[in-house]
Parts: sequence; C-alpha cells; structure tokens
Amino acid sequence: MDLLNTLVEKGLRRELPTREEALAVLATTDDELLDVVAAAGKVRRQWFGRRVKLNYLVNLKSGLCPEDCSYCSQRLGSKAEILKYTWLKADEASKAAAAGVAGGAKRVCLVASGRGPTDKDVDRVSKTIEAIKEQNEGVEVCACLGLLSDGQAERLRAAGADAYNHNLNTSESTYGDITTTHTYADRVETVQQAQAAGLSACSGLIAGMGETDADLVDVVFSLRELDPDSVPVNFLIPFEGTPLAKEWNLTPQRALRILAMVRFVCPDVEVRLAGGREVHLRTMQPLALHLVNSIFLGDYLTSEGQAGQADLDMIADAGFEVEGTDTTTLPGHRAAAGGGCGSGSASSEDGCGSVCGTTSPEEPSVPAAREEARTDLVSVRRRGAGTDLAPNA
Ligand code: SF4
Repeated sequence: MDLLNTLVEKGLRRELPTREEALAVLATTDDELLDVVAAAGKVRRQWFGRRVKLNYLVNLKSGLCPEDCSYCSQRLGSKAEILKYTWLKADEASKAAAAGVAGGAKRVCLVASGRGPTDKDVDRVSKTIEAIKEQNEGVEVCACLGLLSDGQAERLRAAGADAYNHNLNTSESTYGDITTTHTYADRVETVQQAQAAGLSACSGLIAGMGETDADLVDVVFSLRELDPDSVPVNFLIPFEGTPLAKEWNLTPQRALRILAMVRFVCPDVEVRLAGGREVHLRTMQPLALHLVNSIFLGDYLTSEGQAGQADLDMIADAGFEVEGTDTTTLPGHRAAAGGGCGSGSASSEDGCGSVCGTTSPEEPSVPAAREEARTDLVSVRRRGAGTDLAPNA
C-alpha cells in the first residue's frame, strides 16, 4: 500500500503526515489492519525499540468534582457508584505509589479530581511528591490536578514533579459538546504553563465519545503542535450514571487504527495506551504494543484494569520488555531538547508548525456507528487508594 509506505518513511524522518493521510489510516478496512499495525510498528521500533514504559495511577482525591466533563465518572451530578474520598495523606499516597513501583512502574501519576488546585492543594501535593521521591529512588512523578493558576507549575517543579498531565481530550470544535464549565483554550493554556515551567508535558485524547474521524485527526494534530512528550490515548469507558453511558462506538479494530494514526502523527513521542484498553481492545491488546510504547499498569482512577501480573505477562508474551529506570524513554533528540519537551519549537525540522486544526467540509462528519455495549467489562474500582484493600499492581 503506497499510503503505508509513505507513512513509514515520514515516521522514520519525523515528518508530519498530511490530514488526508491521517484520515486514510482511520478509513482502512479490517483486511488491511495487520498491514497498518506492521507499518506503524516499524515507526514505533525505530524510536522506542521493543521497550514498554509502565505508569501507575494514584487517585489522590476521587469524585465530587464541580466540573461537568460528560465522559467522567467523577463529574458534577455523576450517578456512577465510584469511590468518593478527599485528599489522601502523603504517606497513604506514597504507599500506593510504592506498590506500582514494585510492580515495575517507572512513573507515578498523581491525579486529583477538581477544576484545579488551590495553593494549599499544591502544598499538599508537593509534600506527597517529596515523600514518594524519598522512598522510591529514580521514580518519575507526574501531577494531574486540573487547570493551573499562575506560579503553580513552577511550585510543583520545585517540589520535584517531573511532568504534568492535562489532556485536550477532543477537537476544539466539539469541546463545548463535552464540557461546558471550562474551555479547550483553558486546557491548552495549562499544558503550556507546565511546559514553560520545565515540566515534561503529557497531554492526550479520549476516543469513542461520538466524535468523527475529522475530530480525531484534529485533536491529534493539535497535540502534535502543542508538542507534549507523552500522549495518552484513552478509549471512553461509558460509565452508567454519566451522560455518555450509551456511547459504545469502538471495536478493537477501530481502536488499533486510532493508535496507529496517533503513532504516525507523533512518531517519536511516548504514545501511551490508557484507560479503556481492556474494555475496547479486549483480546487484541497485545497487538497495540506494536503501536504504543507505554501503558498504565493495573487499575485506573475509578475503574479496575486487568491484574498487574497479566499486564506483565502480556508484555513478555508479545516479545516486548518493561523499560527500566536506567533507560531514557524518549529518543536522544527529544530528551536532549530540555525537560524532554520534545523537539522544542513548533517550527522545528519535524514539521510541527505546519499543522491545521480545522476541518475541511469534504471530510466525513458522521460519527462511527454504535457497537455492542460491553458493560460486563466495566468494573468500578474497589481496591487500592481510598480503600483498605491492596492495590492492583
Ligand atoms: S475536571 Fe477532571 S475530575 Fe472533574 S469532571 Fe472533568 S475530568 Fe472529571
């Protein structure tokens, strides 16, 4: 296929595909799927070999959020029967983090529900970061606390945070359909504040919310322009009790095509398989390792993932290896750019500056058809942080 040869060549050169090429990946047939995975796998291996970075989520504060993100089980008015608790103490969070590190995680992601942290919250999280760093040598810590106010990114950096996560989630043009209490621009600004403070930016998307192919390409091109070091790709977990509970739009094949498209557009970035992999990829998860170079180990914020040992077995069985703390995740040219903040400016040689975030009228605008609801695969987290039960790691 000429399309795939072109995309592999571009990926190996870190050159931006065209929007049409990215859309064409999403439009490939099931008969072409293994060719698509093999092609994107070549790009993945060029920049990351067969390494898989493991990340571990610690939900510092769960539920009761005043924001209305439709996809989120912690949103205002959510009827999802999730765990609800306020801030974990530093030693509780550190204990949960240690379980993830013992399971092979290289990065711990500290997440709190809410619009954004108060200065007192930043103090609290700073103490938690210090405790985790003290007790787990070499661990990377990423904070995910919502929209940041002036100076907060710098304070988190000074406390030892390595990275900050804030996802764009979906395209700018559909953002208002998903959330009304903050804007897409607010999200972009927080990612830029994190980058300006020297934090490695992590920003990604959620697929399966009823968006079109053009929306998916828009958000991935916007991410490339924003130039985060890691791009988590979530597949919507349609929680009962949230407005998107009926949005079952993904097949394993479509999920793989989306991951391949992200890899072609962001060839040398840490592409992370995030929430929803067990629910939507199901038995096809190992194929995704040929596309992503990073996954979450164990459970998610409010839902349970497969057993941590099953993650490790899957990686080994598929012929990949868990990345150790002695290895730098990003390729040399990105890691050397400072804080790992990618290739630096948007006008660098990889063509980040030439992206366009708008949708052409001739592009498909119909969302994917609904798929079978697999509510049997969604289980609310009942162990780990905020409970008396041991975490899954
Ligand atoms: S701000 Fe975060 S926790 Fe709150 S509803 Fe949105 S995604 Fe959920």
